[in-house]
Parts: sequence; structure tokens; C-alpha cells
Amino acid sequence: MNSFKFVSTRGDTQGVDAPQAIVQGLAPDSGLFVPEWFPSLDFDLAKIHQLSYCNLAKQILKQWLPGYTAEAIDAVVSNGYGSGTFDTPELAPVKSFGTRHFIELFHGPTLAFKDLALSLLPHLLVEGRHLKGISKNTVILTATSGDTGSAALTGFSDVSETKIIVFYPDRGISPVQKKQMTCQNGDNIFVCAVDGTFDDAQNAVKAIISSPAMKAHLAEFNGTFSTANSMNIGRLVPQMVYYFYAYGQLVHRGAVAPGAPVNIVVPSGNFGNCLAAWYAREAGLPVNRFIVASNANCGLSDFFSTGTYNVNRDFQQTCSPSMDILVSSNLERLIYHLSGNDASQVSRLMEELKNNGQYNVPPELKTALQNNFSGGFADDTECCREIGDYYKETGYVLDPHTAVASRVLSRYQEKSGDTTPALIAATASPFKFTSTVFHALFDDCSETSDFELIHELSRRCELEIPPQIENIEAWHPLHSDHCHPSDVAEYVRNAITSGE
Ligand SMILES: *Cc1c(COP(=O)(O)O)cnc(C)c1O
Repeated sequence: MNSFKFVSTRGDTQGVDAPQAIVQGLAPDSGLFVPEWFPSLDFDLAKIHQLSYCNLAKQILKQWLPGYTAEAIDAVVSNGYGSGTFDTPELAPVKSFGTRHFIELFHGPTLAFKDLALSLLPHLLVEGRHLKGISKNTVILTATSGDTGSAALTGFSDVSETKIIVFYPDRGISPVQKKQMTCQNGDNIFVCAVDGTFDDAQNAVKAIISSPAMKAHLAEFNGTFSTANSMNIGRLVPQMVYYFYAYGQLVHRGAVAPGAPVNIVVPSGNFGNCLAAWYAREAGLPVNRFIVASNANCGLSDFFSTGTYNVNRDFQQTCSPSMDILVSSNLERLIYHLSGNDASQVSRLMEELKNNGQYNVPPELKTALQNNFSGGFADDTECCREIGDYYKETGYVLDPHTAVASRVLSRYQEKSGDTTPALIAATASPFKFTSTVFHALFDDCSETSDFELIHELSRRCELEIPPQIENIEAWHPLHSDHCHPSDVAEYVRNAITSGE
């Protein structure tokens, strides 16, 4: 029992336990850590709703993160979720409209789903260092399309023996997202705007983490790199929990019979959230189909339709910026698993992606993909129409990312006739993307700032302003660093030295 290991998708490492995989972030051969097999969680699905979110999380983490003691997991979950940083004791409430069920993953400190994992990751990292007897400091390098940055900064602020460096694309993120990052306090924090896209920032970060010269530089200061991106397996396992939790709620309210399948719809960028849902199914959650929703940057959803992953396309800035990503890191994990743990195939495809910007999966793999996944996309026009239409129909306000998922689900249902109850990951609060949401709802072209619109949105839709951002207009920015993608390494070098 519980003796499985995490191995690299690219094959040339020995397996490691969960603390080691989380502390390292990336495997030494630049692959991603994956479970070598999937422990099944033998929940009684009729009774799962009797567990609180925290108790469910403890049970899942104990089985899926071997190497941590039971006491360590209990402490990680109690400390991570227990400090009143979520605005509801349920953590992830489910809102239902007919056969469409939204699991609201935006009640944490930064109002996006990343909080569910990033509230735990710092504790997992500190416990992991402790359990492995690692006395080195950790430098967390993170590229963000907007939401990982603020959630990681909040989670890692003032964590001992840790520095966190966040790179965000200068354009594209919402004013609320920007303010959340630039106003975060903590003595161990570096926040830097990159004159480029998320992909530029993510590439730079991946290169630095596996660069021998950078590792040697950091070693002089007794440190090692890790990452808070969903490349870290410590992000994905906590994200399995809410799919089980939501299923329990659906059974409890009679929306599905215990054991009956649901479809899971995920607005996707780096593909971490959807992969966590797939892991949940491997652990025993009854899922019929995964529906992967993209915005106009639709390389990911096209992949599920065609079996070709092609990132040679123009990057588009959209109104769902947290999905403005061309290269989805976690596809690598899915390919590894669906090809029967074939690390040499993964290495070959990743090499092709690097050299040609695209790859084709073999026919068996394409069949396996299409038996489980459907992809679809919605552009900004459709997204905004969906926000307006859904509000008129139900009174429920969708954020732009969730609206993309909702629209893609409708199109999937029209085409397939599949009426399986659908669980949609509602990944962000509408208050994080106020001007998009407000203008989609109301025919009002006045040039009001995002921060004023928070109050307007609240008043007109009779929604309470989340206490997490109540006074955001008055927050004082603490970080104004800025660099070109080619200077990211230099920035990291200086951040490592600073304060030493
Ligand atoms: C990060 C993010 C996504 C994309 O999630 P992935 O795990 O990267 O696929 C979708 N919506 C919101 C609001 C996000 O912050």
C-alpha cells in the first residue's frame, strides 16, 4: 500500500516520493513528475458528502502523496485551509441550474481556483524539506498568466527559508490581478512584469530551473529551485479533492445517483486543472467525459479534436487572460499516461514540439484521447454573449473563464446530444474581471475604472463584494520591477543574491 513513486515523464530518473517531487518541482531530466500508478480511493460515493472539505482533502492527500506522514498531512490541511482565508466554510460550494452544476473554486484569498492548491503547497514544501532533512533554502520560480502569481505570492509570503519570484506578462492581465500581485507584502517576494506573453515567461522559467549554471549559482547560496506552477505535482493532487467534493454534493442533492457518471467541463490553459479531474477519475470518480474549453488561443482544444498539437499560431490577448497560453505543460503528463508510461515516446514528442512547434500523436493514442476528451473553444464575442445570456436566464454571474466553459458545454451538448449531468469548474470570481463582466451584462459604455465597477457590479447584480478585495482601490503597490524576457535569468540571479 502507498508505495508508489513519482517518476519523470521523460524516463531517466529513479522514482522519488512525494516530498522529494514537490521540493524539486521539476524532474532532473526536465520532465514532469507523475505517479507511476494510480492508487484508487475506495470512497463510498453515497456517503462522501458527510466528509467536510478538509477531511476529504486529508484522506485523498494521505493516499496520493506517499512519503508524508499522516500527521504531516493533517497539519498541512488544517494550517492551509484553516486560517479563515476562504470566505465560506464550505471552501468550494456547488451552484446548480438544471443539469448544469458549477463548482465555485473562487472563495480563497485571491478569488481563483489556484488558491485551493496554493494554500497547501507552501506547507507541503516546508514539511517536505523537513521530512527529507533538506536544509537548503528554496527559490520558487513562477510564471503566471495572472492567477497563479497572486495565489502563490499569498501562499508563500514570509514562509521561512523560501524566496518567491513571480513573472507576469505586462499586458493582458486584469487590473485586479495586477493589483493583487504588485501590492502583496512579504520580505521574501519578488514580482516582475515581463515585456512578453505568459509563454515567454514560462519558457524562461523552465530554462532557468534546469540550467546547470543557474543551479550552481544558487547552490553557492545554499539554495535549490522549485516551482509553484502546475508543473509541480503538489499543485495537482490537492486539485483532485474538489471534484470528489462536488460529486458528493451532487449525490447529496439527488442530482446524480451514487456511482452514476458526470461530465466535467474545465476552462483550460496549462491543462493542470483538467488533468487533476482525470486523476480523480483514475482514483475512482465516475466521469463519462472531460470537456476541455479554450478561448481563442485554442491549440489545446484543437488537439483533442485532431490529435495534432500545434503551437505555431498567433498569440491572442483575450478577455479570459488566465487561459491565454499556447504551450500547455501538462499535456506531457497526459500523453505519458495514455501511452502506457512510454517515456521514450514522450521525449520524442517533446523534442518535436521544441524543434517544429508541433507534434502528431499515433492513432492508438488519438483514439484513447477521443474516447475520453472533447475539446471546444469560444472567442471573446461568444464569451461575453454567454455572460449576458446566462445572467438573463438564471441570474447567475459567470466570470469570463467560466463563461467560455459554459458556452463550450452548450455547443458540445447540441452536437452530441449527451445529457449527462455536467460539472463545470467555475475558476474565478466575476469580480476579478469586472469590466469585461460588467460590459457583457449591461449596455453601458461609460469609461469607469475596474475598481469603481466592482461597486457597480455589486449594486446592480445584488452580489456581495468579496471581502478579499473590498478596499482594493486603496491598496498601495510595493513592486514595480519590469524586464525583457531575455533578462529574466539576470533578474533571478540578482534576486538570489539580494539580502544575502
Ligand atoms: C489558471 C486558470 C485557468 C486555466 O487552468 P489550467 O490549470 O492552467 O488549465 C482557467 N481559469 C482561471 C480563472 C485560471 O486562473
